[in-house]
Amino acid sequence: MQTAIVQLHRGAPPKPPMGEPCNGCGLCCATEPCPIGTVTSLRRRGRCTALEWHEADARYRCGLLVRAGDSGRAAQRLVSRWIAAGQGCDASLEPLAAETLGEAEAADA
Ligand code: SF4
Ligand code: SF4
Repeated sequence: MQTAIVQLHRGAPPKPPMGEPCNGCGLCCATEPCPIGTVTSLRRRGRCTALEWHEADARYRCGLLVRAGDSGRAAQRLVSRWIAAGQGCDASLEPLAAETLGEAEAADA
């Protein structure tokens, strides 16, 4: 099993199962950028630089989509399509709590 350590806001919601509506948990984008995120972040691994925490909504949002909203509905639709917004959670990642990860590492040792 491959593991990666990512830091998420304490108030972020837990990741839903695949196929459920995206709740902005941020896990996917904090792990690696989507295709458009690799272009804007100039990286293929690690946190996407466009990922933003929105305190008022207690969730993460895609900064590209947020800013596209300022440029009109056409731009917002285009970015929504690029990042597959509204398609439900498509991340097969299995989150482990920090304590659980520590226990797994101890068991592997
Ligand atoms: S797609 Fe899934 S993992 Fe990514 S932010 Fe939405 S709910 Fe979280
Ligand atoms: S959806 Fe937005 S924040 Fe998430 S990886 Fe793609 S560009 Fe980055």
